[in-house]
Amino acid sequence: MNLTVKESLEKINITAKVLFNEPMRKHTSLKCGGPADIFIIPESLSSVREVILFAKQHSVPVTFLGQGTNVLVSDNGIRGITLQTGNLCKLTQYDTSITVECGSDMNSLVTSAVDRGFRGLEMFYGLPGTIGGSIFGNAGCFGSEISGNLDWVDIITRTGDIVRTRAEDADFSYRSSMFSRNSGFIGQMHFSFKEFSPPSELRQRCEYYRLQRESKGHYISPSAGSVFKKPKIPKGDTCFGLSAGEIIEKAGLKGFAINGAEIAEYHANFIINPEQKAETVDVIQLIRLVQKQVSDMFGVNLECEIRFLGDIGNTEDIKTLHSRQLN
Ligand SMILES: Cc1cc2nc3c(=O)[nH]c(=O)nc-3n(C[C@H](O)[C@H](O)[C@H](O)COP(=O)(O)OP(=O)(O)OC[C@H]3O[C@@H](n4cnc5c(N)ncnc54)[C@H](O)[C@@H]3O)c2cc1C
Repeated sequence: MNLTVKESLEKINITAKVLFNEPMRKHTSLKCGGPADIFIIPESLSSVREVILFAKQHSVPVTFLGQGTNVLVSDNGIRGITLQTGNLCKLTQYDTSITVECGSDMNSLVTSAVDRGFRGLEMFYGLPGTIGGSIFGNAGCFGSEISGNLDWVDIITRTGDIVRTRAEDADFSYRSSMFSRNSGFIGQMHFSFKEFSPPSELRQRCEYYRLQRESKGHYISPSAGSVFKKPKIPKGDTCFGLSAGEIIEKAGLKGFAINGAEIAEYHANFIINPEQKAETVDVIQLIRLVQKQVSDMFGVNLECEIRFLGDIGNTEDIKTLHSRQLN
């Protein structure tokens, strides 16, 4: 099938880099995951649309990827087309607003806002990944969510339509948005600002937040950030008020490792791959172990924050991981 798809792909009018059997460990911050059959890095949103229409016409599945900082990819890889947004970085500044394409990295957007004295994004300075990925999962930190200054998002649907959604209609909540529940491609978005400060003051705030991350060990080893969401624990429970990391630490799991995948000593909600030798299956074993131990010891259900890509859902156990994430 791939050959036919490959030949047909060469005939469509796109500006894009196209790779075959591309190892996903090269494109994920956790440094694991098998090959993507067809890995496409488009250079324009019109090429994204062409690829989506091509995939629909040829019944090829399409998976979207930003910088891979919040995903765990199956060791079996990803079938069909994986569309990576790394070359979609156009950013346009206006008097009090910015339009940005999905593949722009977070620091580029924040720096652009700060240089113009736009206040409100400084806490996102140092957050790994693309703007598209952050909108998908409504990334949040230091009490703010990325949807806070967002005006609208343009989606390319699986049928190639371009639909503009206003932020107030996008159903943003904790690590979730309508975009993480439907299948469209997040193309570009618009942020507007109502507060302004001197750029020098905003730069200091950016550095403060970056240092906070550095001091918590965020940049030490390959990881996908926090693995588990903040659990909902009733008042009166022994774990009430604790973060997922604090509960994992209380369960005595800091430093626990399976074949190179390790619960970070410096941040118990991070699974790290320090030697880059762990495979996805090792990370999954560790996730299962943490969920079981925390559930057995404290009756707390830890849901995954990271997203699973590729055919991970082969076994009943892994399906449980998926459903916990989707709940
Ligand atoms: C050290 C570290 C610290 C982190 N700290 C935080 C934190 O404080 N808060 C937080 O919320 N997150 C945090 N994260 C997670 C991550 O940084 C964010 O979720 C980031 O926004 C993901 O962006 P990405 O481009 O890497 O997305 P990816 O990991 O590539 O993708 C994530 C999901 O979004 C989908 N997606 C990506 N782009 C598009 C698109 N254009 N259209 C449709 N779907 C798309 C993918 O299919 C996938 O399901 C951290 C990660 C690391 C490694």
